[in-house]
Amino acid sequence: MTLEATDLATAKAPDLRTEIPGPEARARIERDERVTSPSLPRAYPLVPQRGSGCVVEDVDGNLFLDVNAGIAVTSTGHAHPEVVAAIQQQANELLHYSASDFYLPIYTDLCEELARIAPMSPTRVFLTNSGTEAVEGALKLARHATGRQYVIAMLESFHGRSYGSVSLTSSKAKYRTGFGPLLPGVYHTPFGDFEHLEEVLFKRLVSPQEVAAIVVEPILGEGGYVLPPEGWFPYLRELCDRHGILLVADEVQSGMGRTGTWWAIEHFGAEPDILLSGKGIASGMPLGAFIARADLMRWEAGAHGSTYGGNPVACAAALATIRLIEDGLMGNAVAMGERFTAGMKKIAGRHAAIRDVRGLGLMLGVRFADHDQMAAVEQAAFRRGLLVLGCGDDVIRISPPLVITGDQVDTALEVFEDAVAEVTGSAS
Ligand code: PLP
Repeated sequence: MTLEATDLATAKAPDLRTEIPGPEARARIERDERVTSPSLPRAYPLVPQRGSGCVVEDVDGNLFLDVNAGIAVTSTGHAHPEVVAAIQQQANELLHYSASDFYLPIYTDLCEELARIAPMSPTRVFLTNSGTEAVEGALKLARHATGRQYVIAMLESFHGRSYGSVSLTSSKAKYRTGFGPLLPGVYHTPFGDFEHLEEVLFKRLVSPQEVAAIVVEPILGEGGYVLPPEGWFPYLRELCDRHGILLVADEVQSGMGRTGTWWAIEHFGAEPDILLSGKGIASGMPLGAFIARADLMRWEAGAHGSTYGGNPVACAAALATIRLIEDGLMGNAVAMGERFTAGMKKIAGRHAAIRDVRGLGLMLGVRFADHDQMAAVEQAAFRRGLLVLGCGDDVIRISPPLVITGDQVDTALEVFEDAVAEVTGSAS
């Protein structure tokens, strides 16, 4: 029996009707694996067909509880009716007109909204199709605005897969292996280290006067949901001010209300010069943005552009997303984040295998003893119908849609603890 979309959002999940993966999923996977690029890093054999709220139905009719949100993307839940309506209305009116070469009203509307919610002011905004393009654009702007060539990124960071962004990425060597030479002029420093930048990089390797930007995720995402130590961002801000370096906050994963504020950096007492957004910005439509202090965006016409960036349908989804986050979902992220964290800490108290529970709002990391144990818990959760995703070496990330309810949080915790108990052999 097929559920209506509205019923799907409130359906009991997990609710598994076949073995996992089921027959239709297995057939789909076989076809997929014959034709798709083997580089795609599939986490487990989920074959989603429909989604509503925090519930995902696979091709065999199994219902999964999704606390992964398609990798922290479906911020308003799967197929939120207001986002879908905005997309449909815009699709009926205008599917595409390049905002690079012409004046697209909805592109302006969204840039105004992003400038309004940015942590610094006044700003200008450039819209992209993805997070990695936002990183590329910010790199170009930083070099252009400062006339400097070097860039510093954090060890264990993730910024994307295109050449500039993968040159900053250092969460796993495999993202870089076989692709060199990467972008020259990039240095790395340990995230949260108060000495290495000045004592090693600036003293031995690069003069700060030649550094255009320090690019940093306020909370390491793919690197393991790692929070910065107290005072780290004010320190970076002061260092950048002292040397005329631009502070670039990559909020592709941590932004858009997930941590209870529009941007995670707002928790940490510093304003960036350039801020990057993506993932949750448009609830699943491909969109990214870089937002820069207005005085930095002085490049001439033609210096940067994009055929599709800021596509009108994606902009419509983003405007609806911003409205929904502001009208309650950001508050829900705080309340549900507290509930999730408190519950997860109790589970950690019962299972020595869990080494750490950390996070802010609905960006929660659960660290295990090692990679294999973490991966086994991820798989065991999937087999029970709970969608979570690993990150870093040994961390499971919890990044649900911001619409998650208290009952869904409690169910997710119960299923998660069962998965931990299965893997570690401890009682739940
Ligand atoms: N920056 C951060 C912090 C990310 O987490 C990601 C993706 O995971 C990216 C950039 C790249 O975004 P995209 O995959 O949309 O290119």
